[in-house]
Amino acid sequence: MGNPLPLPTSLSPSKVSSFKDCALAFRFSAIDRLPEPPSVPAVKGTTVHRALELLFGLDPAARTPAAAHEQLSVALEELRASEEWTRLELDDSSATSFADDAATMVDRYFTLEDPRAIRPVGVEMMLEAELDGVAIRGIIDRLEEDDEGQLVVTDYKTGRTPSVNQEQSRLGGVHFYAFLCQQVLGRLPAKVQLIYLGGEPQVITTTPSEQSVRGMRLRIGAVWNAVERACERDDFRPRPSALCNWCAFVSYCPAHGGDPAEARALGERLRAEASSGGDDMAPAAVSIGTRS
Ligand code: SF4
Repeated sequence: MGNPLPLPTSLSPSKVSSFKDCALAFRFSAIDRLPEPPSVPAVKGTTVHRALELLFGLDPAARTPAAAHEQLSVALEELRASEEWTRLELDDSSATSFADDAATMVDRYFTLEDPRAIRPVGVEMMLEAELDGVAIRGIIDRLEEDDEGQLVVTDYKTGRTPSVNQEQSRLGGVHFYAFLCQQVLGRLPAKVQLIYLGGEPQVITTTPSEQSVRGMRLRIGAVWNAVERACERDDFRPRPSALCNWCAFVSYCPAHGGDPAEARALGERLRAEASSGGDDMAPAAVSIGTRS
């Protein structure tokens, strides 16, 4: 057992699922705060989210497919000016495929709903609540009111459409958003929906209940207790799975011949640099797979 590790600053849906998927990858990301290289699927997802965010900034009647593609062009321009784009190091053909794939996802979106009929309350809304002293955070892609004035939470997914077996686990994050709405806005959403754009377009919907939110509250508490225990004992174990193929920390992972002590040294150096740089330099809580 090593020295106690600092606790992460908050919990989010992605951190909860990251801890459950592999405690060690969670530690590298949320505690050591190791930088992760941008990935094409994640950056593409962020770009499509941005295009839809911009689309909902337009008057309802103006939210046409042509306007959505214009907003996608704006989102791509913003992206091309970013360091993230440079770090992807795409050649011309890959850059063209990137833009084409994003355009396809925008087209898929219009097969699922008519944005002119949506009444958004907010887009890309960061909601934060405190649960037993722990900051709970999540970004809601879109919050709207339905015809009855009830809240509906929408989460866009640009990864592959899940199998029937995976659906329930994906909905775990959804109940997290319902919990946040109830805590922050004092209202339980009537519906939470996942809009899948990465493959076969599909909407998966669930109706949160007082019971499901209570269950979420208990699950968040249980995950936080497990994180606290793991930090106290410096005991974050690897859990090899297919996810290792995409893990940014594989070179530090003992399950793959790596040395986690190197990750800790790098994390400590980064934290020391951040704290000597003042608040502005404090690293934001890192989460894995915020956009999927
Ligand atoms: S390589 Fe696999 S087991 Fe190792 S930290 Fe990453 S996800 Fe976990």
